Amino acid sequence: MQHIEYQTLIDSLEKLTIPQCDLIKKRLSSHPFTPNPVLKNLEIELDQHPHCPKCHSSQIIRFGQAHGRQRYRCKGCTRTFMCTNGTQFFRLHNHAKWLTYIENMVQGKSLRECAKLTDMALSTSFNWRHRFLSMAQTDQPEKLEGIIEAHETYFKFSQKGERNIKRQPRKRGEKTLSKKLNNKEWTPVLVAVDRAHHEMDFILNAVTDDNIDQVLAPRLASQCILCTDNQPVFNKLCEQHQILHKVSHNLQTVEGVFHIKNVNEYNCRLQKWMERFHGVATKYLGHYLGWFRALETQKYEKTNTFKLLALQQHCFET
Ligand SMILES: [Zn+2]
Repeated sequence: MQHIEYQTLIDSLEKLTIPQCDLIKKRLSSHPFTPNPVLKNLEIELDQHPHCPKCHSSQIIRFGQAHGRQRYRCKGCTRTFMCTNGTQFFRLHNHAKWLTYIENMVQGKSLRECAKLTDMALSTSFNWRHRFLSMAQTDQPEKLEGIIEAHETYFKFSQKGERNIKRQPRKRGEKTLSKKLNNKEWTPVLVAVDRAHHEMDFILNAVTDDNIDQVLAPRLASQCILCTDNQPVFNKLCEQHQILHKVSHNLQTVEGVFHIKNVNEYNCRLQKWMERFHGVATKYLGHYLGWFRALETQKYEKTNTFKLLALQQHCFET
């Protein structure tokens, strides 16, 4: 730009209205020279927690630049990598749209709205959503401790979006069978929470002794106390692993502290939050459970374990 043009531009800045300012900010945020806040955030994360995506060594050094971005080298395995390696942003194009997309997604906007607001195809919007959510799915605490509450909740089995649907289509308003029968119409999800607000969930084929034992037993810390309703599957688990078991009948509190109110309230919030998606495909249920878990965790933990939400916070700060 010529110096005179530049000077005219600078001089006219003071006359801008608020909407004009917003428009300029938006245009500048997608300017190639503007540092991408997502990449910046990932670089800060690597500085604070050095980690090689290949061999997991913490011995990494800055190693020049590639395509205008910082490159790193691992002293352990000598490989070079960028801050996006091993994250959901690896080889993802359209940097300038990442933050806007995540912001809209975290606000619970539909796939179609997200696509429209970021000017992308619906199929891209779908791929981006599930790319970002796949990280949330595996982000669960290792163990639950102290007083633990467990209860299951159910989601309608859905093959939404699939071409070869195996079951007969449901008619509008048609009643599905009861959830308690372990039938194929409903997918059970076991949810367990401890009093420190750690939460885990497990998608089950059916609520059986073996399934409950397999998912829950390894995740319970020693000397914990398990609170459940009076379902026999939990009795068996507690007997087998010598866990102190407190049964709450009809949501009653036992001995002043043992109840399953927290897990029930969690399940209610989860079901209500899921309504906005008008039924999710069962094969993606884990993604949505992870998304909700991350939103819930954020209420109690100041540390941002979940990067998408860290970025969301970043959006609101800038
Ligand atoms: Zn390495």
